[in-house]
Amino acid sequence: MIITEQKPFSEVEAALKGKNKVFITGCGSCATAWKTGGAPEVEAMKEALTKIGKTVTGTVVSEEGCDSRKIGREFRTHKAEIDDADALVIMACGAGCRAQALAREDKPIRPTNNTLFLARMERLTKSEQGCVMCGECILDKTGGLCPMTACPKELVNGPCGGYNKGMCEVDPDRECAWIAIYNRLKRFNELDTMREIQPPKNQAKRKHPQAVDKTPVKV
Ligand code: SF4
Ligand code: SF4
Repeated sequence: MIITEQKPFSEVEAALKGKNKVFITGCGSCATAWKTGGAPEVEAMKEALTKIGKTVTGTVVSEEGCDSRKIGREFRTHKAEIDDADALVIMACGAGCRAQALAREDKPIRPTNNTLFLARMERLTKSEQGCVMCGECILDKTGGLCPMTACPKELVNGPCGGYNKGMCEVDPDRECAWIAIYNRLKRFNELDTMREIQPPKNQAKRKHPQAVDKTPVKV
């Protein structure tokens, strides 16, 4: 799941200076689950914008805010309402904003959310970063725990010298990622994998911009 946070409303209001009519879009996927852009949040945003004198020409909670195919279909259904708006107010992640900006290149967009990270969601109010998308997954060598994400130094070959009583020197409230990895590997009788030296991460895999034209993997 992509974790987002809602911007303070004052920021949304400032960004809409001079835009009197708006169309609001939410996202039926991550932003709905995380309550930053589902139907109730879209309704609350509509109410708040109406209160400050904006005309909301329409709303839609897209099935998946970052899927250009679905956005295209939904925007065609709401064409007249979007035509009538001065701007799109988008309650989704940055990728959703991008998809929607491309779907209507004639309309300025105003995101209501900050996009934070890719996460594992534990419950409705708790999530933790699950992956920094390094492009070279080594979870099979680390007992399923990601050192790139859980270790602030992104160390892939064991702990630094700073851990103290099993806790991380950077964040003493957290267990050292490598202690946790050691314990997992021990449980699986796979401690030998810790002796394998992992090559440095290929930072080119994390370059920007990136795009993929997917071809099926042959197995
Ligand atoms: S090693 Fe970590 S950051 Fe890299 S792909 Fe796997 S889970 Fe993601
Ligand atoms: S103490 Fe452990 S988690 Fe913290 S920076 Fe060092 S290796 Fe990484």
